[in-house]
Amino acid sequence: MACVMCNGKMEPTALDLERSYKGYTIVIKGVKGYRCADCGEEFYQGEDVERIDTVLAAIAGEAEPEVLTLEEAAKLLRVSSTTLYGLVKQEKLPARRIGREWRFSKNALLEYLKGNKPGLL
Ligand SMILES: [Zn+2]
Repeated sequence: MACVMCNGKMEPTALDLERSYKGYTIVIKGVKGYRCADCGEEFYQGEDVERIDTVLAAIAGEAEPEVLTLEEAAKLLRVSSTTLYGLVKQEKLPARRIGREWRFSKNALLEYLKGNKPGLL
């Protein structure tokens, strides 16, 4: 991998990830990433940082929205949008059509996943 700043060599390393929360500085050490041997530019592995940010957002009370779009619902259930849409058309999933778009309750989908009564509308 080449450095975006100087085209130098990016080497795998453990980095400190800094985030702020209510005036505190939260430092997470040992996050997998890369550092340029020449200019010191740092690059984090996106997946880990994404997870850390999700956890920090939860701590800060920035909950994910309860109402999901078709795409978000498919992502939640880890199926394709087409599969999900098929289930919706067969009325096998709790969903509500608002205007031209489908909306889903995250809680209802999770209940459905647990095998509880889907609560069809
Ligand atoms: Zn560099």
